[in-house]
Amino acid sequence: MTDNGTRIVDFHIHTEMCGHARGTVDEMVESAIEKGFARVGIADHMPLLYGTDPHLAMAPERLPEYVEKVLEARDRYGDRIQVLLGIEADYHGPTQTERLEMLGKYPFDYIIGSVHILGDWIFDSPLEVERYDEIDLDKFYIQYLNEVESMVESGVYDIVGHPDLAKKFDKRPTIDLAPRFRKLVFAMKRRGICYEVNTAGLRWPVKEMYPEPAFVQVAAELGVPVTLGSDAHGPEDIGRDFELAVDLIRSSGYGQIATFESRRMTLTRLP
Ligand code: ZN
Ligand code: FE
Ligand code: FE
Ligand code: ZN
Repeated sequence: MTDNGTRIVDFHIHTEMCGHARGTVDEMVESAIEKGFARVGIADHMPLLYGTDPHLAMAPERLPEYVEKVLEARDRYGDRIQVLLGIEADYHGPTQTERLEMLGKYPFDYIIGSVHILGDWIFDSPLEVERYDEIDLDKFYIQYLNEVESMVESGVYDIVGHPDLAKKFDKRPTIDLAPRFRKLVFAMKRRGICYEVNTAGLRWPVKEMYPEPAFVQVAAELGVPVTLGSDAHGPEDIGRDFELAVDLIRSSGYGQIATFESRRMTLTRLP
């Protein structure tokens, strides 16, 4: 397989432990090895803390088991691939204290921060998609991007997950988002954190990667680092559409991809 930078890393991989993905930690790592990855980050959904739906994230009592499985895989596969311990953690104000406490207990290599809930609406859940018909989409996008910015300012996270997730179901605003993207990118720059180009959007109604090219362009201009995630929910998703993602990254002016170890960012040159 030709590399072209598409096999540097996949940092956004779920496992069966979250209740809506297929594949054990080992199966995900083995798929990444087969596909020729140099390193892989498992980043399953952290317990939500704002609900107990077993189909959205692992139960709180299973988090230690998750960490143990990933660390075991790191040892077992270490001569073939670098396995990193990540987590996709929500940002949700009312439960943030509890979340921080939980995050502090484990030696994560990186934390992906994601906004999936606004008020009591899990807006990226296909089960709650009918609520889009009842809302003002402009206000929704503004609220979403403000929440992502608060997440960045919280200083807890290393990577902004799917930065424009609001578009997932292809419900579009009428306003121009460019100035708001720019404001968000400036906040990321100030905080020294990066974001992912996430290819999962291609598999949802929006049929686009997150974030949109204009966002990547501004981030590249301001020197905000970028990493790569497939948001795999099955072994076959790993590295999916990374040719498109790397094309976007490269054509926006990036020469490097960010990776993390023990919460420290390293930049790897694109070949
Ligand atoms: Zn998921
Ligand atoms: Fe997510
Ligand atoms: Fe995810
Ligand atoms: Zn995600």
